[in-house]
Amino acid sequence: MTSVTHFVDGTHTAESERRQALYNPATGEVSGEVSLASAGETEAAIASAKAAFHEWSEMSPLRRARVLFKFKSLVEANMDELAALITKEHGKVLEDAKGELTRGLEVVEFACGIPHLLKGEITEQIATGVDSWSLNQPLGVVAGISPFNFPVMVPMWMFPIAIACGNTFIMKPSEKDPSSTMRIAELLKEAGLPDGVFNVVNGDKEAVDVLLTHPDVQAVSFVGSTPIAEYIYSTASQHGKRVQALGGAKNHMVVMPDADLDQAVAALMGAAYGSAGERCMAISVAVAVGNVADALIEKLTPKVEALRVGNGVLEGMEMGPLVTADHLKKVEGYVASGVDDGATLVVDGRNVTAEGGEGFFLGGCLFDNVTPEMTIYRDEIFGPVLSVVRVPDYATAVKLINEHEFGNGTAIFTQNGDAARQFCHEIQVGMVGVNVPIPVPMAFHSFGGWKRSLFGPLHMHGPDGVRFYTRRKAITARWPTGLRVQADFIMPTMK
Ligand code: NAD
Repeated sequence: MTSVTHFVDGTHTAESERRQALYNPATGEVSGEVSLASAGETEAAIASAKAAFHEWSEMSPLRRARVLFKFKSLVEANMDELAALITKEHGKVLEDAKGELTRGLEVVEFACGIPHLLKGEITEQIATGVDSWSLNQPLGVVAGISPFNFPVMVPMWMFPIAIACGNTFIMKPSEKDPSSTMRIAELLKEAGLPDGVFNVVNGDKEAVDVLLTHPDVQAVSFVGSTPIAEYIYSTASQHGKRVQALGGAKNHMVVMPDADLDQAVAALMGAAYGSAGERCMAISVAVAVGNVADALIEKLTPKVEALRVGNGVLEGMEMGPLVTADHLKKVEGYVASGVDDGATLVVDGRNVTAEGGEGFFLGGCLFDNVTPEMTIYRDEIFGPVLSVVRVPDYATAVKLINEHEFGNGTAIFTQNGDAARQFCHEIQVGMVGVNVPIPVPMAFHSFGGWKRSLFGPLHMHGPDGVRFYTRRKAITARWPTGLRVQADFIMPTMK
């Protein structure tokens, strides 16, 4: 049985009074328990991060980067163990867990370039005898709060850049799968990170509320569902903090009549059913334009029926279980509501036979004839459920997507460059793929949605990450000789 506590000041703490069970979703069995931090325990972590800030922020960016280089090689050396921890608590198949680690490592690689990324701007002779330049300095103690679906990758969207910039960090992972994040904390220490620079506080609302309101926390990064993102954004903003809060999604993939259907179907299979649909960039709606719908359903159906569902540790599995029994019940409820609302359930994944486990499994579900009023169209389901919406033309597809409350990701499959270009131009969504179903930007670009998928001005990682975790200082300097000193009583202008 695992007992997960907190990682503060470079060490595992004692168990908290409040604790919650951890499950292996593939077997449905309890695998351990996680401590839920009290307000006092969270305050202790903030105090540790505050004490570590001065020395860490005074260290040169190159020395900070060298710790991250070492950390990267340690993650690579421990890839199998980390992937196994993710699969054990999240359920995703092992290869997918390794994919998550690789995408997270790309942000570490980006953050290793921090000596270059922190450079400011300079104008020599901005006025006669005057120079001006800007500095990018760290904020202090910053916090990250992450969801269950990427227990390593989403924390890695945040902390590598934050600490590379010279901040100290408190991570509050999801209480559903915290073990891999705890292992990351140990590896950071092994890489030479000073105690207190990276702390992990496990817990729920009690810990989060301290992070959102404590005067020593300067910034909060959040990824999770939209209602919680709104709460995080408003509470932390009201307490004077910088906030970036990424929320939920309903990602549409438009299939144009000229699309290569085999490519589109292969893309939909991976994007809708990979990680059991528990991805914020999963495609959950296929928008079939014109006469493409019948052929699309015909090609999708046998593939969805043939999905290999089972324990993620087994070779060849394509889809693992959902994360908890409650989440399984919720997703099954959506499937029932789709049927009640009159959509055609072409493939029903309920009562699936899963290989190697009796846990929280749902097979792939495929709905046809879904319409915009239906709950299964409007809500984020976050499970292996793909809805096909039939529309007569391109303009109706664009209108449908632009009217949805979420705007995280979208894609168009077509062979027509003009349609694709127009789509990129007019679609009200933050991340767009052209013949790419899951257009997650690489680490050196920034990740973020529009509308109710993101609250705050800056996206995550890439250049926006560096901006988020630093503040600007503008210096204007001159070195007058005694002869040149004179009082100026008018508003300074450049001469
Ligand atoms: P969640 O919102 O339930 O939880 C996210 C975090 O918030 C967790 O750490 C949790 O402990 C904390 N939390 C939960 N309730 C809280 C409360 N009342 N007060 C304070 N903190 C609270 O999300 P989840 O179920 O873990 O993750 C799935 C959601 O995350 C989906 O909606 C998905 O779209 C979203 N997500 C979005 C992105 C993105 O980039 N936009 C990426 C991954 C996941």
